[in-house]
Amino acid sequence: MSLALTGQELSFQRRVRTFAERHLRPIAAKIEADEYFPEDFLRALGKNKFLGAPFSKSDGGLALGWVSETIVAEEISAVSGAAEMARLASAALYSAPLANFGNNVQKKRFLRSVLSGEKIGALALTEPRAGSDAGSIKTRARHDGRDFVLNGEKRFITNGGVADYLFLFAVTDPSKPARSRLSAFVIPRNSKGLEVVRAYGLLGMRGANVAHLRLRNVRVPRENLVGRLNCGFSIILDELDRERPAVAAGMMGIARSAFEEAVRYSSTREQFGRPIRDFEGVSFKIADMAVKLAASRLLIMHAARVLDRRSPARKEGAIAKLYSTEAAFDVAHESLQVHGGLGYTKDLPIERYFRDARFMMIGGGTSEIMRYIIQREVYKEMGRLS
Ligand SMILES: Cc1cc2nc3c(=O)[nH]c(=O)nc-3n(C[C@H](O)[C@H](O)[C@H](O)COP(=O)(O)OP(=O)(O)OC[C@H]3O[C@@H](n4cnc5c(N)ncnc54)[C@H](O)[C@@H]3O)c2cc1C
Repeated sequence: MSLALTGQELSFQRRVRTFAERHLRPIAAKIEADEYFPEDFLRALGKNKFLGAPFSKSDGGLALGWVSETIVAEEISAVSGAAEMARLASAALYSAPLANFGNNVQKKRFLRSVLSGEKIGALALTEPRAGSDAGSIKTRARHDGRDFVLNGEKRFITNGGVADYLFLFAVTDPSKPARSRLSAFVIPRNSKGLEVVRAYGLLGMRGANVAHLRLRNVRVPRENLVGRLNCGFSIILDELDRERPAVAAGMMGIARSAFEEAVRYSSTREQFGRPIRDFEGVSFKIADMAVKLAASRLLIMHAARVLDRRSPARKEGAIAKLYSTEAAFDVAHESLQVHGGLGYTKDLPIERYFRDARFMMIGGGTSEIMRYIIQREVYKEMGRLS
């Protein structure tokens, strides 16, 4: 398995980078300062086919594989972490389970318009009492004739206040264990009874929309059930396995920008009559950052290539996410240190990278949960766990 980008992937990467520089760079400061949700940018991404790159052409994508998803994630987040968060929630978290488990009618109705950027999607799994333990969600979907009626709450839903559609998990058979009591639904945002309770203020990722939602007797037809009844848990696992390399690549994009700024600044800032990079206390930080970025890139590529071979990538994805998200925070932290007092001010984007890079040690499964998954897979592989 080659961990280098192919010629086609390199040219795709160049196109996304140019696009992000042209269309996102000019609004990156506004997204942060005004907490501006970059809806127009999402639309432009869709128009240019950068939202559905991994999905099949018949679903509205480019059939470029999951590596292309990690390329887009890195390039967008290198300019704006919040814009990437909005993109990821719509084009990956919402779209991937629909592409993989939805039927053709559902894809036509709910997927194409999201991948083209006309509509926005969100994934609604987490609840006030169910975070790391996703199988313990309580939102209930009851049969009522040909419909399902949903009641419950969802918390921390990225794009939750702006999405046109939610990919939402609910309990359809509470008498069964977690693996066979959940089902997946597409819920249009304009459904009667679906309320945006509030948007959260965040430490970083300003401009992202993360909302608390309440469902009171929300009625959807049976046609909105995705996959088989009571088979939602395997959809959750598939979605989480897929999102991890992309989440990791998003954090690596932020770290890459923080690293490049540190290299530039340490070459031009002079103290004691010479550039600060002449001091090993500074330049060795640059070396450590370079190692962390290189290792992250290899782990992410490996996980994405495994996914593209249609193999399960549970351990590989968890390793890539754990390492890259912690490395990204370390890199942003060290970059801030290299910038001295200026790094702590809002004159430079370094403090933004530092705050944004903190997010994904929590989102998409915490570092502790990644370690749990990795050790479990290791023991399984070694025949020590069934
Ligand atoms: C900004 C933001 C955006 C998000 N976007 C979405 C979204 O779009 N859709 C969605 O569904 N969810 C989303 N989430 C939810 C996110 O996935 C959860 O916050 C995350 O999975 C952790 O759940 P929790 O916050 O309930 O923490 P908890 O599960 O309550 O965990 C609290 C602490 O306990 C630790 N812990 C828990 N269980 C264990 C264990 N077994 N072993 C060791 N440690 C453990 C955790 O690691 C953590 O440190 C988002 C969250 C945030 C903050």
